[in-house]
Amino acid sequence: MTEPPETPNGPDLLHFDLDGLRALIESLDQPAYRAKQIWRQLYQRGQLDASQMSDLPAELRRQLAEAAPVPAEPLETQRSEDGSTSKALIPLGDGELIETVLIRSAPRDTVCLSSQAGCAMGCVFCATGLQGLRRQLTAGEIMRQAILAREWSREEDRELTHVVFMGMGEPLANYANVSEAIARLTDPDGFALSPRRITVSTVGVPPGIRRLAADHPRVNLAVSLHAPDPQLRRELVPVPGASIDDILSAVREHNRMTGGRVTFEYVLLRGVNDSRGHARRLAERIAGLRAHVNLIPLNPSPGVVGDRPSRRATLSFQQALQDRGVPATVRVEQGRDIAAACGQLRGDRVRSAG
Ligand code: SF4
Repeated sequence: MTEPPETPNGPDLLHFDLDGLRALIESLDQPAYRAKQIWRQLYQRGQLDASQMSDLPAELRRQLAEAAPVPAEPLETQRSEDGSTSKALIPLGDGELIETVLIRSAPRDTVCLSSQAGCAMGCVFCATGLQGLRRQLTAGEIMRQAILAREWSREEDRELTHVVFMGMGEPLANYANVSEAIARLTDPDGFALSPRRITVSTVGVPPGIRRLAADHPRVNLAVSLHAPDPQLRRELVPVPGASIDDILSAVREHNRMTGGRVTFEYVLLRGVNDSRGHARRLAERIAGLRAHVNLIPLNPSPGVVGDRPSRRATLSFQQALQDRGVPATVRVEQGRDIAAACGQLRGDRVRSAG
């Protein structure tokens, strides 16, 4: 896992895994079993302030409050006019900013987690890609987002039911920390979420797809394909080293190793990748895979290349896939008024600050 970034007040408690917490507790001359109590406070109750962990002795609470800072509150939160989507801009200990989105869509509450500050992948239609990679997030920084979103759900007597790694960053380019976050999310003594309710969304990092299948076979995989042809894909998703063939061969293995079905994400850009010919070639490429295609009409944002396709073109693309036996849906969009595509809130803030 990544070491916590240098921060003026040291790492907060979420930066420690269970063994790390035990070592911290022992260094404070307290019994190691207290670590599990702290773990439950953090991940089951969402209590991030050690001074408020009521089942700990007062002396330990005082020591912990001195040893580890409480993570900062979000700098800014927004809620869409229809109430369905909330978005938070969270400051990290070293001043980096990340964002987290909660989407309420009965009966689901889904949090969209960021896995990196910025992103190196440079997808042309993505505001986060414009920023470049700033750094990897630690497992604790990823969990901070999930805990915050669950708090929002609980405040309205709802339940956080799903987690998607679909925010800022490429999760499989930060494998160790994402894998540790998945372990905490699914730990019965931790966040206690079923792996079936977690989705990792990648632009296609073949070694990461194979590791995910081996380490977390019940976690869902979504692969952003966006183009059926190598040349067009290179233009839209300029990821070095991974061809469509490499990615599809890793997906084939993922199918085999997990027995599950993969989702292909496909952002539709008007006049670029949205013709029936593209749909036909896509169906041919993924033939034989257990797969489903999720079509996402582009949500245009400042500085990002591409236009939104017409509704007609979107439905025609979907029909062309279905005619060839490929299950395909069109993503229902929520919260467009608060710019729900990844990276946009931070991008807005950076622009207005600059
Ligand atoms: S779409 Fe995802 S992988 Fe591509 S640049 Fe944006 S954050 Fe990175």
